[in-house]
Amino acid sequence: MIIKPKVRGFVCVTAHPEGCAAHVQEWIDHIKSKGAIAPGPKKVLVIGSSTGYGLASRIAATFGSGAATLGIFFERPSEEGRPATPGWYNTIAFTRAARAAGLYAKNLNGDAFSADMKRQALDLIRADLGKVDLVVYSLASPRRTHPQTGVVHKSCLKPVGVSYTNKTVDTDKGIVSTVTIDPATGQEIADTVAVMGGEDWEMWMNALAEARLLAPGAQSVAYSYLGPDVTWPIYKNGTIGLAKNDLERAGRNIDSLLKLNGGGRAFISVNKALVTQASSAIPVVPLYISILYKLMKAAGTHEGCIEQIQRLFATQMYAGHTPQFDEAGRARVDDWEMRPAIQAAVREIWPRVTTENLAVETDIAGYRSEFLKLFGFGLAGVNYDAETEPHLPML
Ligand code: NAD
Repeated sequence: MIIKPKVRGFVCVTAHPEGCAAHVQEWIDHIKSKGAIAPGPKKVLVIGSSTGYGLASRIAATFGSGAATLGIFFERPSEEGRPATPGWYNTIAFTRAARAAGLYAKNLNGDAFSADMKRQALDLIRADLGKVDLVVYSLASPRRTHPQTGVVHKSCLKPVGVSYTNKTVDTDKGIVSTVTIDPATGQEIADTVAVMGGEDWEMWMNALAEARLLAPGAQSVAYSYLGPDVTWPIYKNGTIGLAKNDLERAGRNIDSLLKLNGGGRAFISVNKALVTQASSAIPVVPLYISILYKLMKAAGTHEGCIEQIQRLFATQMYAGHTPQFDEAGRARVDDWEMRPAIQAAVREIWPRVTTENLAVETDIAGYRSEFLKLFGFGLAGVNYDAETEPHLPML
């Protein structure tokens, strides 16, 4: 099958297996180029391991620290005439590379919110790893079936209290327009907290603790975002921000649990805004990211997921370091994004961006190429005109 990108709004409905493998290899090469993260994690559970920050965490642990990893994700395999989702191909490429390096890598594809998936993961850890010393919680999901009530909660990205009007960009068509988003209802807020809040992270950690599968001193980290005030109504103060507050609440409970388990810790790392499948669905944010990329590339401080997680592991979590927490107890690798000079420049550019000057005032080209790369398109050395095999079995 010859696979080309098919972009529909903020998703691409195709993915290229060899392109995804080349993308994974770029991330592996980055970690190797930075040298060993030592001492680092050795037995790692990554929940949400197939794309974005979770995949970067898995690669950093494996190729920076020689860790054995169990990855959990929810991806669709190929079907007749249709390639699999990128996380499927990423995981196969990652697993091949890890095993070729002599390292343990196993995968569970399914719903991480379910009791059954937790049972499967616990069984595999008990049988193969004994205990884990790091749990990375990096899920981004539009819905969650609650394992106890069976209720399906759907998350939404809306402001809270008042409606919000701002600029946004259709990244596919390159059109800047004004969008107004009505405030979430109480039910929508509660549902978003149920999906993207911290209850499931706590369920995972409690299950691991009860099964005695946490090594003494084990750490756990989950990821969040704060960003600048231009995005606050839709992010920090919106439904997703309330869910992230709940993630922080859960983090404090898990931290207490891990402290009693040989002096471990749990915390939130606030990461940089980046093009991922999750962030491209948020109104307003892609325009902000396009401006941010231009400014951070010019300043020489631009990073992607892999650079962010390499910095988190090597300068805050491992290699003899401890996290430099902010006043709310969060690690910050969004520090370069939030530098005053960068944010002052965003505020200056924001009001004058239009459809006509989008290509000049922002790095929309960089946004688009990063977006396509998520699906394995635009990678050097891949022949996109050649036949490729889309039906690859999970390893
Ligand atoms: P992503 O969409 O790239 O990855 C999400 C992962 O979750 C994938 O591995 C997917 O398979 C998995 N997943 C989704 N639903 C699942 C389910 N039911 N069961 C099992 N696995 C499931 O997202 P991302 O942007 O890397 O986000 C990860 C975390 O990082 C989120 O908490 C997000 O809020 C946070 N974050 C993202 C950004 C950003 O700009 N992208 C910035 C800061 C923090």
